[in-house]
Amino acid sequence: MKQVLAEIITIGDEILYGQTLDTNAHWISGKLDENGIRVVRRTTCGDNEQEIVKALAEAEQHADLILITGGLGPTSDDITKTCLARYFDSEIKPNEQALRELEHYMANRGRALNELTRQQASLPDKCKHITNNRGTAAGMWFNKNGKIFIAMPGVPHEMKHMMSHHVIPRLRETYELPVIYHKFVRLTGIGESWLAEKIEVWENNLPDNVKLAYLPTYGDIKMRLTAYGNDVKILEKQVRGLIDSLLPLIDKYVYGFDDNPLEVVIGNILRERNEKLAIAESCTGGFIAHKITSVAGSSDYFNGGIVPYQNEMKVKLLGVQPATLEAHGAVSEETVREMAVNVKDRFNADWGLASSGIAGPGGGTPEKPVGTIWIACAGPSGIRAKKLRLTKDRDVNIRLSAVLAMFILYQSLVKKD
Ligand code: ATP
Ligand code: MG
Repeated sequence: MKQVLAEIITIGDEILYGQTLDTNAHWISGKLDENGIRVVRRTTCGDNEQEIVKALAEAEQHADLILITGGLGPTSDDITKTCLARYFDSEIKPNEQALRELEHYMANRGRALNELTRQQASLPDKCKHITNNRGTAAGMWFNKNGKIFIAMPGVPHEMKHMMSHHVIPRLRETYELPVIYHKFVRLTGIGESWLAEKIEVWENNLPDNVKLAYLPTYGDIKMRLTAYGNDVKILEKQVRGLIDSLLPLIDKYVYGFDDNPLEVVIGNILRERNEKLAIAESCTGGFIAHKITSVAGSSDYFNGGIVPYQNEMKVKLLGVQPATLEAHGAVSEETVREMAVNVKDRFNADWGLASSGIAGPGGGTPEKPVGTIWIACAGPSGIRAKKLRLTKDRDVNIRLSAVLAMFILYQSLVKKD
């Protein structure tokens, strides 16, 4: 099976000038990778004919497949179509199928076709048109001596729909592509480099057809195993075997698989046991409750939360002892334990989760520098508390604490160390 090499060209002045983040190239890269096509280069050029033609010619040198987005619209700054017509020595003519689809698209929205829109159904006569179910600019598929060039609209949701529903299926018919199987292992509570160290031997012994990627976001790590082959059933079995030998190495940190983040895993456990959760947050300012309630149906198990930011409110609303605050301070094991127990009791829950810390950038002391955060979880059979030493960045600290607080709850729920 010959590896298909691809280049992505994104077109638009707004990308070059930093006004639009090139999310198209990022998304297309992932989609091609999922399908066993190797991206060898990504290029961005402005709405400039010379630059576009130069990029096309270069891409043709080192890729089999060239995917282009942007500049397909009807306005004067959109010149991709005319550039492609020139590049392929092709004439722009009304394309019957594109016109029918455009009329249908407009009729569905109760709008008439004006001349500028009608022009969108005129395409270079050497291309096959690609349906756009989400907009008015048709895509274009060129084949030049076995090299395939595909132009798609710049609007991300139009491009994604076209790529998923029309381009990928056609590419799978055109090329002999490997069958690919992905499995995600989800974990937290460990840094990426420590994780890599723990699984080094296992990773070095991975078979050639299996690749591993670490995808971390704020303390939450997805490990993606991708297996390439011809038969999905065989790949599934192979990956299951690999995961069976991986889990004992990192069992302490693993909370789930595939598309389920920590807040979903926690919610499922609580719902199944018919147990309730309450949250008291100081430094995270409600962010943990936000994560928990971002899951549909969380009212089944989430009783509520409170953000007693000032000490006075910790005493008045949550019943933290003034003596505890005086002796140990708000950012302390003693305070966060009381917060967790009291929120559990006051909200009639089975589980209480609490956070208190110095998110920064100000407010640190030599004993309690910025990034010192205490989290605690109170449950039916005791309390777990943990001191975190995080970063100097406020936003990062809030997000990390939320993940680690949810993880301490998960550990308490399943009695992991
Ligand atoms: P339209 O028919 O809407 O004009 P088009 O193919 O001409 O589509 P552009 O005019 O290049 O596309 O861009 C349309 C919108 O999509 C703009 O808001 C632009 O910022 C956005 N966009 C274009 N290219 C990208 C990209 N590579 N990544 C993310 N957004 C993009
Ligand atoms: Mg445009």
